[in-house]
Amino acid sequence: MTLTKTKIKDEELVMKFVEEPKFAARRKMMVKQLQTNELAFAADVLDAIQRVPRHLFCQPMYINSAYEDVTLPIAAKQTISQPSTVARQMSLLDLHPGEKVLEIGTGSGYQTACLVAFGVDVYTIERQETLFTITSELFKQLDIKVKNICGDGYLGMPEHAPFDKIIVTAGAFQFPPKLMAQLKVGGMMIIPVEDKSGVSNMYRVRRVDESDFSVDKLEKCNFVPMLSGVNKVIN
Ligand code: SAH
Repeated sequence: MTLTKTKIKDEELVMKFVEEPKFAARRKMMVKQLQTNELAFAADVLDAIQRVPRHLFCQPMYINSAYEDVTLPIAAKQTISQPSTVARQMSLLDLHPGEKVLEIGTGSGYQTACLVAFGVDVYTIERQETLFTITSELFKQLDIKVKNICGDGYLGMPEHAPFDKIIVTAGAFQFPPKLMAQLKVGGMMIIPVEDKSGVSNMYRVRRVDESDFSVDKLEKCNFVPMLSGVNKVIN
């Protein structure tokens, strides 16, 4: 990802950008800590995280916490993903540069930017129109090239399918059949799913062949819910 000052138009963003040297040191510290995490994140994933200025994706009031390993509030009552969760989901995906990846839950665009920094081809869906509008502008200002739409992630993007990998960054209540159908044979989806008792686990779903999928249940996790339909802004 390239960030050039001339591309930054928004005044608030200029301020965030000017502060980059201070944040670069904090980002380095954060990645150093992630390197010692017991989940053993992939080194190339941490390299990508090292290259993404998370503070540019945070709301101004939380900017000083941008390099703590925590979720932070963003617009539409949603949250920016926790760096260790981004590292975990991306590591599990076994990504290779150039792969076609569908992301469900664009949110602040932070996870999207990490995927772009890794070098994959990103398609991303957000159901909150407010977030879609904010993030579309930010992607333009930061010259982040992705295909992003405002839509219902449960439906995927059939017109761009099949995908090598699918990453779901909100907690689903089922394995979405339409997303599974959009995976390439040999492809993989990482998705948090909540069971009937309200407990969520991370799952890795692999498409073995046209009709067969294998599912691995992984650790417990916590995500904002994956809801159906689009939430339009009412003027
Ligand atoms: N990865 C994002 C944050 C994810 S929070 C980041 O780094 O900022 C989860 C996001 O998923 C929220 O923005 C929420 O609105 C969105 N979401 C929930 N259900 C969805 C659905 N069905 N389709 C698309 N997006 C959805």
